[in-house]
Amino acid sequence: MTAQQPDQYVLASSKLYCNFCPGYCCYRLEGSTLYVDATDINRIARHFAISDGEVRKQYIEGKNTFKVRKDGSCIFLNNEKMRGRCSIHLARPRQCRDFPYNEPCPYLDREDLLDIIQPLVENSITLLHSENTN
Ligand code: SF4
Ligand code: SF4
Repeated sequence: MTAQQPDQYVLASSKLYCNFCPGYCCYRLEGSTLYVDATDINRIARHFAISDGEVRKQYIEGKNTFKVRKDGSCIFLNNEKMRGRCSIHLARPRQCRDFPYNEPCPYLDREDLLDIIQPLVENSITLLHSENTN
């Protein structure tokens, strides 16, 4: 007897996927914005035991988003591992907690997005590895 195959591979909309993902949504892409509000900033300030103003100075770009690195990755994304990469996971902004809003994750669903982000993820990890072995 052959196992029955599903007609279509359906991406889970639960956050469980995030546990096994390098954080594709943690890269800034044209047309996508991470909004960080005053509550988020205060949560991060308490996490680091610094002032809200210091959080704004060190991590915020403009008024309401995080700084990113040259490759577009969030300043808090950790390159030392492939998953569980948010270095402020417990204090991350509301938008990061809620995304992808109980819908299938678009970053896993869209090859065009993965084509952009996957090489960035691999480059960062490779660079770090070569720095550590030199
Ligand atoms: S929301 Fe999507 S891209 Fe972001 S960590 Fe979860 S599965 Fe990965
Ligand atoms: S705060 Fe964490 S979850 Fe949010 S974009 Fe940055 S690294 Fe990703």
